[in-house]
Amino acid sequence: IPTTMSGQTPANVRVFVRARPLNTRELERGAKCLLRMDPETETTHISRPDDADKGAARSSKRAAPGEEIKSFVFDKSFWSVNPGDEHFINQDGVYKHAGKDFLDHAMDGYNCCIFAYGQTGSGKSHTMMGNHTEPGLIPRLCGDLFARIGKLTNKGRKFKIEVSYFEVYNEMVRDLLKPASKHNLRVREDPTKGPYVEDLTELTADTFDDVLRFMEMGSKTRTTAPTNMNDASSRSHAVFTLSIAQLSGSGSAITEKNSRFRLVDLAGSERVALTGAVAGGTRFREGANINKSLTTLGRVIAGLAEDAKGAVIPYRDSVLTWLLKDSLGGNSRTAMIACVSPSDYEEGLSTLRYADQAK
Ligand code: ADP
Repeated sequence: IPTTMSGQTPANVRVFVRARPLNTRELERGAKCLLRMDPETETTHISRPDDADKGAARSSKRAAPGEEIKSFVFDKSFWSVNPGDEHFINQDGVYKHAGKDFLDHAMDGYNCCIFAYGQTGSGKSHTMMGNHTEPGLIPRLCGDLFARIGKLTNKGRKFKIEVSYFEVYNEMVRDLLKPASKHNLRVREDPTKGPYVEDLTELTADTFDDVLRFMEMGSKTRTTAPTNMNDASSRSHAVFTLSIAQLSGSGSAITEKNSRFRLVDLAGSERVALTGAVAGGTRFREGANINKSLTTLGRVIAGLAEDAKGAVIPYRDSVLTWLLKDSLGGNSRTAMIACVSPSDYEEGLSTLRYADQAK
């Protein structure tokens, strides 16, 4: 198995970690950045906050040096804390490391899947979508795709790009490109093509502007959920898919390549207890389902990273992993970007541990 420079992960699974800046609220309460990244070794360190009320616990723990700092090595660490920092990585830097190669792979005809994982507010949608001034992976990838298409079309290649955008919420699927649609699309299985969402909208994009329009349409549908819960989007998984079909050659020597690029903004990974869950209530069920999808995803990716070895990959254990089956495993390339808030020890550590078991 080819390994990466750090010798951690097989080449078809990459695990990245990204630390966002402290926000105004955190700065106002004097929160400290608990993370450190060493770009030489791609090591991320997280240390326990040393505020006053933790003092007692700290001194009683003196006997175990090294326990206060936990360290993890990933394929790449993105330090996005302060633009003035020496190793700062911006949106473009993230695209260069976690987007470009994947697009090469997709244009060679293989499927790709990139996930953003982390607690709510850790920077998942900033990383995937970003905003107008700092576009994220999805718009950058689509921009690059159409720029490449422009060049290749001149060389006689033909392309057809289709976009779909759906959300998995409480194990139900909703079409984000069909405004006012409900969470009830059926998941079916085709004997040759595998699992798919029945009646899912797929829109053809002829230009980059078309994609931007579809992205915006989907994001709007996502935040105006009929469930009427203002933070529902943080509890759903949003899956943006580019289907790339390309024809090259002429006459009897025409070759066709088809691939899918999935970009997934996962539901917030914070523990159910913190989101005000009540046993037996809807929230609890949602929480259990979110955790089930995230746990299953972790197991699927860990299974892939182990390079089969006869292991059964539990795709069927959640709707999300089942629907993404075609883009996970085999010749597909998968990346997980673990997003971490700089001053939340418990959640940060839990995210780093999740990412660590995925490699
Ligand atoms: P999530 O999708 O994980 O809930 P967001 O992406 O919405 O989190 O991020 C929360 C806030 O932090 C947003 O206002 C976002 O713009 C900001 N933010 C997140 N990551 C970064 C970053 N790397 N650089 C600058 N701002 C960021």
